[in-house]
Amino acid sequence: MRKCDVLIVGTGCSGLYCALNLPRDKKIIMITKAKVEESDSYLAQGGICVQHDENDFEPFMEDTLKAGHYENTRESVEIMIGHSRDTINDLLEYGVRFCRDKNGELKYTREGGHGKHRILHHKDITGEEITSTLYARVKELANVEIMEYTTMVDIIARDGEAGVDIRSKRFPEGTLAAKASAKEFLQHKTGECFGAVIRKEDGSFDTIYADCTVLATGGVGGLYRYSTNFRHLTGDGVALALRHGIATKDVDYVQIHPTTFYSENIEDRSFLISESVRGEGAKLYNKNMERFVNELIPRDKLTAAIREQMAKDGTEHVWEDMRTIPLDELVAHFPNILEYCKDHGFDATKECIPIVPAQHYFMGGVKVDKNSQTSMDRLYAVGETACNGVHGKNRLASNSLLESLVFAKQAANDLLKYEPLDMDEDFDGMETKVKMQTDKDGQVVVTKVCTFLTPDYSKYDDIEKWNEENHKLVLDEINRRN
Ligand SMILES: Cc1cc2nc3c(=O)[nH]c(=O)nc-3n(C[C@H](O)[C@H](O)[C@H](O)COP(=O)(O)OP(=O)(O)OC[C@H]3O[C@@H](n4cnc5c(N)ncnc54)[C@H](O)[C@@H]3O)c2cc1C
Repeated sequence: MRKCDVLIVGTGCSGLYCALNLPRDKKIIMITKAKVEESDSYLAQGGICVQHDENDFEPFMEDTLKAGHYENTRESVEIMIGHSRDTINDLLEYGVRFCRDKNGELKYTREGGHGKHRILHHKDITGEEITSTLYARVKELANVEIMEYTTMVDIIARDGEAGVDIRSKRFPEGTLAAKASAKEFLQHKTGECFGAVIRKEDGSFDTIYADCTVLATGGVGGLYRYSTNFRHLTGDGVALALRHGIATKDVDYVQIHPTTFYSENIEDRSFLISESVRGEGAKLYNKNMERFVNELIPRDKLTAAIREQMAKDGTEHVWEDMRTIPLDELVAHFPNILEYCKDHGFDATKECIPIVPAQHYFMGGVKVDKNSQTSMDRLYAVGETACNGVHGKNRLASNSLLESLVFAKQAANDLLKYEPLDMDEDFDGMETKVKMQTDKDGQVVVTKVCTFLTPDYSKYDDIEKWNEENHKLVLDEINRRN
């Protein structure tokens, strides 16, 4: 059993930035399922948005709302844009290197859906540059301990019972929790969180108690056959929210990327074939090598057309032809893509490559307020795990790194409002022993010694089954709302 002030589950950009923004006298434990470098934050290619100048607030807002089909939470978007410049300044101070022009000024680029140049980038590895820098700064902190290959299996909720499935419980008015709306959930705050049950690399279980817990567990791509995400990102934060009756939002809003490299190996993460390849003139073909679609229609429509064609042809992919792009331009613009294809057996300068749509991003998640607090006290959610409504129905390119960082800082600031847990008052699952000591004046002093009872780990004995149930819970919820 361990105890800390703040437990952060996940070491992507949101988890790391949250840790950096907490006071240095807080004892922080961060856990991650894999190595720190194995998070989607390291994969981000294009860049990170920032309000370009004082006249860019409304245009940035409009682009974000338009991409999100106007289903975004305006207040959240305002917070994201309003804090964007400060966030970039923080990153620069930590040592992040963004591309600059010949005068040394920050160089802004533009992507689909943006009416203006407002994206900062570091080559085509922006995520790696940002996240590795944040990681380097966190490693310098004496108050932060990082545990790799350590998985959150469950949260410890108010009654000390981990893994209580509240979906079969009823609220006082009689509503079945499983049927309650998000609003009803919020009216019935679902208790308090006191940390998490973890599974260590050697397979043993342990408990980390914490005054506050932050879920920064990333997206849901690992639940899909084809996804650009790391395979170990399986929506664990959302699954536990569903098990414990914590409010979720827009869980059916999953972004699919139409063109990723097709691999027969189910273990492989899908590699993005950037939209700009099609922008430069690449064409899509069916099994007879005939064009079947306008390649520049919006992502969702193109995905539907590719899937329809695959079903018609009875194939697992369609073909993308990059030979339509002048060779010198192809080589200069897309060296990484060409290299990846070559490593995987295709010379894209001479032949077509197999393409399939893949899950890419999760707009929905654990419902949070503007301070990243969930409907459970002492429990926060940040990054792709959380849904604060910034993205609405569809994420605008390069908004997710920014959103992850801004709202991780909101969480770090807000969670300080909680008093440290009073171990005597707050814990039912705790054994209290009375101990008598004599002080220096010979007076007898009565001290309470608290011993935590170990949660019942037997419910996780069949860990494969527990995980499968979690995966099913999330997928059912995504499909139920679709
Ligand atoms: C290929 C690709 C390109 C992208 N390009 C861009 C871009 O150009 N611009 C942009 O803004 N966004 C981009 N994105 C999206 C962006 O990278 C992510 O949305 C963002 O990095 C998410 O950060 P995060 O901290 O929420 O999660 P992640 O970085 O995914 O980190 C999740 C962490 O949670 C841990 N974890 C998960 N479950 C558990 C558990 N049960 N117990 C313990 N630890 C757990 C993982 O090990 C990991 O450390 C891209 C994404 C991909 C996949």
